Amino acid sequence: MAEPVLLRIEKLSRVYGDVQPVYALKEVSLTIQQGEFLSVVGPSGSGKSTFMNVIGLLDKPSSGSLKYLDEETADWSEQRRSRFRNQEMGFIFQAHMLLPEFTALENVMMPLRIGKNLNAKSKAKAQELLIRIGLGDRIHHRPGQLSGGQNQRVAIARALVNRPKIVFADEPTGALDSQTSLAVYELMREIHQDEQVTFVIVTHEQALSGKTDRVVHLLDGTIQSDALQV
Ligand code: ADP
Ligand code: MG
Repeated sequence: MAEPVLLRIEKLSRVYGDVQPVYALKEVSLTIQQGEFLSVVGPSGSGKSTFMNVIGLLDKPSSGSLKYLDEETADWSEQRRSRFRNQEMGFIFQAHMLLPEFTALENVMMPLRIGKNLNAKSKAKAQELLIRIGLGDRIHHRPGQLSGGQNQRVAIARALVNRPKIVFADEPTGALDSQTSLAVYELMREIHQDEQVTFVIVTHEQALSGKTDRVVHLLDGTIQSDALQV
């Protein structure tokens, strides 16, 4: 049975500047089903981060349509956008972006605090996630006391704590060695399988994109290819 369409993108463009306009995205159309595990690849400057930021509601398109579960997001207020980001989306970046003065547990709980969902039950969920990702004995450590790979794991837990429908990862393994990258990939894959979370992973690393179910290749702001992999 086909999964429902989570995200429907039609002729989405993002233009920077008006004197000499740069099309970071040029009429991109794509649908993403719930539960997909896909990567977005392409050379530097091809529009990968712009694409992720626009579909992650961190940036607004210049034109085109972006629908979540058949609802057009173009006219959503900033409040609605940020609420949706907090409740339905998770973000993982190349730099873990953890807050240095907070512990691993406090960092993981941050989206709960922002979404006003922090209670005993959700705190237990945050703790459970840290145990699940192998950091049960590090929950009171701060980012400065953890390795790069451990911090990226904390960032993954933070992205998942509100039980999002979709997780966006922009070069999640870009700052990690190959062995640690593999462990981070395996963790994302495991979560995808267990919780049916949709993953959109931006990467220029073939070792990572080669393991995803679908690869969308961007070039100069357009889709050059879009293929399923076995
Ligand atoms: P990628 O993530 O694939 O490296 P980006 O999405 O960051 O690519 O950038 C796509 C294009 O848009 C590039 O040509 C880049 O220079 C341009 N661009 C990105 N952000 C801005 C900005 N804030 N202002 C102007 N141009 C930008
Ligand atoms: Mg980028």
